Amino acid sequence: MDIPKNVRAVLETLEAAGHEAWCVGGCVRDTLLGREPGDWDVATGALPGEVVSLFGDRAFPTGLKHGTVSVRTEDRKMVEVTTYRIDGEYHDHRRPDSVTFTRSLEEDLARRDFTVNAMALNLRGELRDPFGGQADLERGVLRCVGEPDRRFQEDALRILRGMRFAAVLGLDEDPETAATMDRNRALLRDIAPERIRTELFKLLCGRAAKTVLDRHPQVLGVFWPEALAMLGFDQRNIHHCHDVWNHSTAALANTPPDPVLRCAAFLHDIGKPSTFTLDENGVGHFYGHAKASVALADAMLRRLKCPTEFRERAVRLVEWHDRDIPRTDKGLRRALRLLREEDLRRLLDLKRADNLAQAPAYRGRQAEIQKAEEILDRLLAEDACFSLKQLAVNGRDLLALGLAGPEIGEALDRLLGKVIDGELPNEREALLKEVRRTRR
Ligand code: ATP
Ligand code: MG
Repeated sequence: MDIPKNVRAVLETLEAAGHEAWCVGGCVRDTLLGREPGDWDVATGALPGEVVSLFGDRAFPTGLKHGTVSVRTEDRKMVEVTTYRIDGEYHDHRRPDSVTFTRSLEEDLARRDFTVNAMALNLRGELRDPFGGQADLERGVLRCVGEPDRRFQEDALRILRGMRFAAVLGLDEDPETAATMDRNRALLRDIAPERIRTELFKLLCGRAAKTVLDRHPQVLGVFWPEALAMLGFDQRNIHHCHDVWNHSTAALANTPPDPVLRCAAFLHDIGKPSTFTLDENGVGHFYGHAKASVALADAMLRRLKCPTEFRERAVRLVEWHDRDIPRTDKGLRRALRLLREEDLRRLLDLKRADNLAQAPAYRGRQAEIQKAEEILDRLLAEDACFSLKQLAVNGRDLLALGLAGPEIGEALDRLLGKVIDGELPNEREALLKEVRRTRR
C-alpha cells in the first residue's frame, strides 16, 4: 500500500524545506500488514513553529504543547505533524511531566509503546525499525519498546492498549510483556474512565477479543470487578458446557464486531452468579438473571462514562436476551416498535451468538432465529408500519377532529398499537373512523 497523495504532499513540503519527515506509528504497522490505516501520522525534525510557518493558514496548532500541528491538505483532510520528541519523567502513571523536542527520529521512536508501533516510513519507501517491529509483526508478537515494567508504570493505559492491539491484530503478547501487564494492572485506577472505555471497546471488537479477555481477566477486574464473579462459575446445567465467563466470551466472539452488541454479549449473563440457585436434583438455575444483568451492566457502563444512548441500547439488549424470539408478524412488529430495526437485528445476532455458546446438544435455536429474521426482512420490504412516523394519520389530522393536548399523543399510540397488532389497516380513512368512534 502506498502513502496517500495528501500525506505525500505534506512530507514533500517538509523535505523541500530541508527537514526530515516520516510516516510513523499505526499507519506504518497497518501498511506492513496490508491493512487500511485509520489515519496517517507524520513525525518531523522541524520544530512546531517551523511547521506552522511552512504551512501557513493550512496549519492548526491543535497540540502545540506536545509538538503537534494539524495540517489541512488539498482534499480538506487533516494530517497530524508532530515534532520528534522525548517524553520527560512520568509521575502520575498517565502523562509525562514535560516533553523535549529532539532532531533524532530514533529517540522519538523509543518513546512509543510497542515495537510494532515504533516504525517509520518515508517518501522513498525506507523503513526505520530500530526495535524489530517488523520481525515481531511477522512472528505475530506484541512486545514493549524497552523495559515493560517501566513502560507500563509510565503510562498505565498502555496495558489496555496492549490488549487492544493484541485483540485487533491477533498478536500474542511476548511472555514478559504479558506478565508485566497483569502485574501492573492496579495502576489503571489512575486512568480516566473515558480513556479506558475507548481502548476497551476497540478491544472488544477485535478478532481475537476472546483470547485476550481470557488471558487477562484480572486487568478487566480493575474497573469491572463484577466480571470476575463469572470466572470459573460452574452453571451446573446441561444446557451449558462452559462456565459463565467462558460462555460470555464465547458469545462475544460469535457476534459481529459492533461495540454495542459486543458489550451486550459480554455482559448478558453478568447477573448469573448473584442469582444462582441449586434445586433438589443438583441442577443450577438463574431465575431473574436477565434483570440482575441489566442492573450490573448499567452500573458498569456508567462507571466508564459511556454515552447515554450507547448504554441504554446495550442494556436493553441485555434485558431482552432471555426473552422468547418473536416468530409471528405481530410479534416482530411489536419488537420493531420498541427496538427499531438496528437493535432488533442486534438482538437476533445476540440470540444466535448466545445459543451457539451453549452445550452442543442445545444449539438448535438457530432455525428459529433464522425464521424471525426472514419475517423481519419481509415486513421491512413490505414497508410494514411499526412507528408513528409511518402511521397513515398524524397529529394534525387528530387536531382537525377536535382532539387536543395529550389526547393526541395517546390516540396516536393507541392507533399504532392496533395497526401493529393487525386489528386495523394502516389506512387514513379507517384510522380516522376509529378515532371518531372511540370519541363518542
Ligand atoms: P489506530 O490504528 O487505532 O489509530 P495507532 O497505533 O495509530 O492505532 P494511536 O493511538 O493513534 O494508535 O497512536 C499513534 C501512535 O502514537 C502509536 O502507534 C504509538 O506509536 C504512539 N502512541 C500512542 N499512544 C501512546 C502511549 N500511550 N504510549 C506510547 N506511545 C503511544
Ligand atoms: Mg492512529
